[in-house]
Amino acid sequence: MPAFSCRSLTGSRLRAPELVSMTNAPTPPLADAHVHLQEEVYEGHLEDIMDRARAAGIAKMLSNATHPGDWELTLGIARGHDEVVPCLGVHPWFIDHGIEDWLEGLRSLLEESGALVGEVGLDRINADASLAEQREVLSRQIELAQELGRPVMIHCVRAFGDLVQVLEDHGPWEVPFLMHAYGGSVEIAERLLDMGAYFSYGGYVLDDRHKKARRALRATPSDRLLIETDAPAMLPPEGFRTHVLEGDRGRTWNEPANLPAILGGIADLLDEGPDELRRRGWENLERFLGGAP
Ligand SMILES: [Zn+2]
Repeated sequence: MPAFSCRSLTGSRLRAPELVSMTNAPTPPLADAHVHLQEEVYEGHLEDIMDRARAAGIAKMLSNATHPGDWELTLGIARGHDEVVPCLGVHPWFIDHGIEDWLEGLRSLLEESGALVGEVGLDRINADASLAEQREVLSRQIELAQELGRPVMIHCVRAFGDLVQVLEDHGPWEVPFLMHAYGGSVEIAERLLDMGAYFSYGGYVLDDRHKKARRALRATPSDRLLIETDAPAMLPPEGFRTHVLEGDRGRTWNEPANLPAILGGIADLLDEGPDELRRRGWENLERFLGGAP
């Protein structure tokens, strides 16, 4: 496994843009590593959103449920749309029942559907549940994922020390896990990488206030990097919004069709061609879904 800071080992910086275009390779499909298609703000708009995503070249999306109340809807959306890979879990913002109330239900839906596990994680800022409760909920879901051999989607806000501890306690990892919207340090990323982490980045890194996340992005090994929209959340900065969904009370929402613009911005930050980043994003997601740690 390459060291976290050795991105250039893969040679992506050595690939001249003219060499890429000389191959005349078709534009690779796009993979959105993290979305929430079941969100209420998409109700009544989902087919249009999916049409715009397809028109934008997106051929795969990992769609994350967040609590027992949206598991069935997430599975239903995946059944109706070939490009959607469902992920089921309890997000740290939505811990409001004892684990015994939902863990067996999660197990049977995972077994039946083949879904991945997500979105799970720790959040020191935005969750009502204590960090101790969050750690317990996360641990039980990780154990389930490891038992069933399913990749895991992880959310973490200002709780990276705790997260590394929980993940190390569950090592060695034989299923891959994905750090969605990664915003931690390069040092933490190195420890996560030692356990087999993949890292996904979205529109927030295009805002130059996110300096720490940008450092991590640039240090991420090319075979561990994925791109996401987190739609309908995380509308990218102006200049990277090709699609804006108007919601109630003047609110505006992100959608997967913004992925090409976000990917283009991230490719610029990495000083590489967008097609190369698309290709890597696709290959990395395939490998992740194939269960490679
Ligand atoms: Zn999310």
